[in-house]
Amino acid sequence: LVELDRAHWVHPVASYRGHEKAGVRVLRSAKGATVTDSAGHQMVDGFAGLWCVNAGYGQESIVEAAAAQMRELPYATGYFGLGSEPAIRLAAALAERAPGDLNHVFFTLGGSDAVDSTVRFIRYYQQARGKPEKDQFISVEQGYHGSSTVGAGLTALPAFHAGFGVPFDWQHKIPSHYAYRNPVGGDAGAIIAASLDALRSKVEALGGPERVAAFYCEPIQGSGGVLVPPPGWLKAMREACRAMDILFVADEVITGFGRTGPLFMCEEEDIVPDLMTTAKGLTSGYVPMGAVFLSDAVYGTIADSAGAAAIGHGYTYSAHPVSAAVGLEVLRLYEGGLLENGRRAGARLMAGLEALRDHPLVGDVRGRGMLAAVELVTDKARKTPLPATAEPARRIFDRAWDNGLIIRAFANGVIGYAPPLCCTEAEIDAIVERTRRTLDQTLA
Ligand code: PMP
Repeated sequence: LVELDRAHWVHPVASYRGHEKAGVRVLRSAKGATVTDSAGHQMVDGFAGLWCVNAGYGQESIVEAAAAQMRELPYATGYFGLGSEPAIRLAAALAERAPGDLNHVFFTLGGSDAVDSTVRFIRYYQQARGKPEKDQFISVEQGYHGSSTVGAGLTALPAFHAGFGVPFDWQHKIPSHYAYRNPVGGDAGAIIAASLDALRSKVEALGGPERVAAFYCEPIQGSGGVLVPPPGWLKAMREACRAMDILFVADEVITGFGRTGPLFMCEEEDIVPDLMTTAKGLTSGYVPMGAVFLSDAVYGTIADSAGAAAIGHGYTYSAHPVSAAVGLEVLRLYEGGLLENGRRAGARLMAGLEALRDHPLVGDVRGRGMLAAVELVTDKARKTPLPATAEPARRIFDRAWDNGLIIRAFANGVIGYAPPLCCTEAEIDAIVERTRRTLDQTLA
């Protein structure tokens, strides 16, 4: 397998080079939060795959739901006015649970194409209102909104632009709220004021609100290093957008479906975005699916302008019935106890990681619920980051692996955590204890 992999599989993301030298690690099976590789080595999956297997591995009822749907009707398009029962029921169930009036659901295959679709919907919307010149988009540095070309345009992490350039003129970013390394300091009020200023200045620089269509942010910036905004930041930004007639898009691809506690983090923050994107936990990684949520006003304006013809896009696998059947079952599991377990486990995880603050390598600990990060530094007082190359991160990942733990080791010295919501107390304790062991070995 290692030789075949080396010869033929082009892996995603540049860390492939690291894998290439060491040889691919083949995962063989998984149950609950524990993954076993082809050599029989077992690890707690502290990252739920790629922050997606929220329901945990080996959930028989999900497998049954998928198999039953495959037997009954393995495929149905949403084109030509057709549909399938699971897709209709899932759209209705999601709309019922989404914040406020986000009552309209457009299904995609994952997060990147969900973000792409929002850009189209927003263009349709602004055109339908007779404001086609409102065509500029603003997002946040350290933000990640996907790897597709349009998603990468909104993504502010340079690695996703390097070497190909993004053929759009609307990639306008404002500085992140990143509290640990914010030039204005860590005070919540100061950070919010700086972000509001930055947003307003960016809007002015683009020619005023009449030129700006939408503002995108993640409720917690995930791929940028799990950057949690200070309390009130999301609400302040949402309100500022409303006041300027700029659509507010919440990208809940990571934060959605129990990752931070509730089904959607916007709910907890008491905000209703104009559009919301989700994926990952929607089907818990068992099959691919994403979903765009549209408010009554946005959907209604588009639909009224030119009927269904205004929704000029879709994908062969939009609203795939097997994915929808999985989505319904996953939702049932969340509400049948997984969200509750995730909240308990998340509190234990955060408390455990907080206790790592005394470690000489730990500069910052942050997160919410089952989404957390530890930021490593070489000098705590100066907050000196680890060298920004892949090598130290790779070594930390490897050591954690040998210690029986899968974590995400970002190149900037941040360790990311997003365990399955089904984690037991013992598994959470193992995540923390194995992290400490890994850090001790890194120091030695
Ligand atoms: N938005 C956010 C906030 C994400 O974290 C991701 C994926 N990590 C995406 C969009 C893209 O999702 P996908 O990888 O499913 O295309």
